[in-house]
Amino acid sequence: MKVTVFGIGYVGLVQAAVLAEVGHDVHCVDVDQTKVDNLKKGMIPIYEPGLTPLVTSNFEAGRITYTTDAASAIKHGELIFIAVGTPPDEDGSADLKYVLAVASTIAENMDSHKIVINKSTVPVGTADKVRAKILEVQTANDKDVSFDVVSNPEFLKEGAAVNDCLKPDRIILGTTSDVSEKKLRELYAPFNRNHDKIIVMDVRSAELTKYAANCMLATKISFMNEISNLAELFGADVENVRKGIGSDPRIGYQFIYPGCGYGGSCFPKDVQALVRSATGVGYNAKVLEAVEAVNYRQKEKLFDYLMQHYNNDLKGKTIALWGLSFKPNTDDMREASSRVLMEKLWEQGANVQAYDPEAMEETQRIYGTRSDLSLMGTKEATMNGADCLVICTEWQAFKAPDFDAIKSTIKDQVIFDGRNLFEPSLMSEYGLQYYGIGRGLSV
Ligand code: NAD
Repeated sequence: MKVTVFGIGYVGLVQAAVLAEVGHDVHCVDVDQTKVDNLKKGMIPIYEPGLTPLVTSNFEAGRITYTTDAASAIKHGELIFIAVGTPPDEDGSADLKYVLAVASTIAENMDSHKIVINKSTVPVGTADKVRAKILEVQTANDKDVSFDVVSNPEFLKEGAAVNDCLKPDRIILGTTSDVSEKKLRELYAPFNRNHDKIIVMDVRSAELTKYAANCMLATKISFMNEISNLAELFGADVENVRKGIGSDPRIGYQFIYPGCGYGGSCFPKDVQALVRSATGVGYNAKVLEAVEAVNYRQKEKLFDYLMQHYNNDLKGKTIALWGLSFKPNTDDMREASSRVLMEKLWEQGANVQAYDPEAMEETQRIYGTRSDLSLMGTKEATMNGADCLVICTEWQAFKAPDFDAIKSTIKDQVIFDGRNLFEPSLMSEYGLQYYGIGRGLSV
């Protein structure tokens, strides 16, 4: 089928690649000329496991193309995806300017029936706004071409995006049009063979489903972080509590890890956006407000531990930092806990020596060159001359380090672990002081 994808980011590029992989003919459009030029040269703008070979082979086979020429791309696709960003506005609500700009462009250039599919995460009612925008621009241009707007939110996880798109748990289609549903069922048939994963509903429910999913996941994290703070105050070990509650199948083990807060491009902005949308309809979303507040506080947890350990004096300290991305297997630094920590450390006059398996370039892009940040080639190199070690991201490569080497290199022989990677008793055996989340200090 002929498909057009607006926005070549984490969602657009991965979606385009998997659609091309099963044989669809995909044209990708982005306003970022450099991104498009680089992709044409085979340079993939993001790190995502399995993405580079998938994109490269489909580009070479001519099933995926990149352009900034929206007009030609709109002519190509009978199915047009909108996968552009919906960043938070000043007040935290989702900013729809990119989505509506794409809607205008589609309206200006369409000359045959189009199914416009919204994949971006957007507040309830956005499909209506997209429809209204297309009609407005068509009217202004004296056009009357038929179209439909469908909501098809994306549930991929960064770090596992390719697999999630190739083998989705569910495909939500928000539409009441039989014609659009049939077309989308045909598009997704290759991903829907094992059993029917397509759930069809009205557009508004589909839009809310995406927010509800992300807010539920964020709630699990903040809930567990709240319990971790209580565990610490009560002298309990949150890791025992986690295992204890996870064994109840109604709760389950998934997504109840305490840590140094959630980040990324989705949870923080989507929780905020739903809170703001709720306010818009006169409702105070108290649970979600608390989820946000707990996370905000939790992102300062490691810093608080450091301040406590060093009697509020971090000036001149050198901190070895493992993990910069907001989670493993991605180079994405948006809203990463490491950023909150580093910025607070710098305010106190501390120096950071950091390493991340994939996010070094992104860190350099964000912070440029500064004398209090050294990006090191290996995790071992971060420890040279460092006073302590802090872990912000649970990359596999950090899970079984050489503890003897840590002990002999880190001056103060102390680890601040934002992801509870190690057992406090083992750390004691190695003679290391150890701070875990919801576990306090063990010596
Ligand atoms: P991104 O920032 O990585 O990519 C967005 C792309 O859209 C950029 O390349 C940008 O240049 C392009 N763009 C902006 N305006 C455009 C226009 N008018 N025409 C063409 N291209 C344009 O964003 P992302 O992470 O892929 O997220 C996209 C949407 O999907 C957001 O609404 C996000 O909430 C949602 N989402 C993201 C994830 C995720 O894990 N990243 C998961 C599910 C849903």
